[in-house]
Amino acid sequence: MSIAFATLVTNSDYARGARALARSLIAVRSTAPLLVMATPSARQQLSGELAEIEGFNARVVAVDPLPVSEAFRCRHERDRLHSHSPFTKGEKPAFHTPLDNFCKLRLWQQTEFERIVFLDADTLVVRNIDQLFDYPEFSAAPNLYETLSDMHRLNSGVFVAQPSDATFDDMLRKLDAPQAYWRRTDQTFLETYFPRWHGLPYTFNALQYVYFNLPELWDWDSINVVHYQYEKPWQGAHARSTELQVLTNLWHQVAQTGEIPQNLNNPAHS
Ligand code: UDP
Ligand code: MN
Repeated sequence: MSIAFATLVTNSDYARGARALARSLIAVRSTAPLLVMATPSARQQLSGELAEIEGFNARVVAVDPLPVSEAFRCRHERDRLHSHSPFTKGEKPAFHTPLDNFCKLRLWQQTEFERIVFLDADTLVVRNIDQLFDYPEFSAAPNLYETLSDMHRLNSGVFVAQPSDATFDDMLRKLDAPQAYWRRTDQTFLETYFPRWHGLPYTFNALQYVYFNLPELWDWDSINVVHYQYEKPWQGAHARSTELQVLTNLWHQVAQTGEIPQNLNNPAHS
């Protein structure tokens, strides 16, 4: 079976993330390559960075932004989305453009592969997850980072998909339906498109806020993927810097050395 991991890069910040992700996949001895879907502006501005990432068992795949309507673009433009659907639980960095997220859907066009495991560029794989290639479409983990009531929502930072042009075309039609507004962009869309998604354990997409909000769930022996949702480990000081120091240090260590430290402590909890 032809398989690959995939991520998305539309600007230099996410190229930094993708580079660390690629190194982490090598560290856990993944057998599949990482497809780095890169938009035209990313390819123009980041040719050196992208070429370097290709040295880490990755392959740059040219993707165009989705051909959505001007009205769709307006409804999902950053300022409008942030004012209509404010982020109250954490901060989105300035380099995050909501519209860019929809480009993830291009992975359904990578039909030379029978299965793709998508990983956000702000993730690190800390244990081998190649078993996910045996999972069906559409498998994803819960958007768990604050309370257990988050369990029924999906997070679109890690998922298993089966590329298909027919699926892609169908998605595009439904995505840009009249007045369609996806308040958490691709995540809301995918949750709606696959209402009976298969649930992966949260350990395949451990959101960094679990570390301080639900510390009893953070067990390094079972965590497979760390997902730096909201503030990114490479962005410098932010409101959660102190609480996230251990995870931020982990990201920098993997980015710099390509090795995953084995002596990580679980967070204290009562
Ligand atoms: N992304 C990107 N450029 C953007 C926004 C998003 O390349 O301006 C890609 C990148 O792979 C990123 C993913 O889409 O990891 C989703 O965005 P992000 O991880 O910042 O969202 P969060 O996980 O914080 O909800
Ligand atoms: Mn993310």
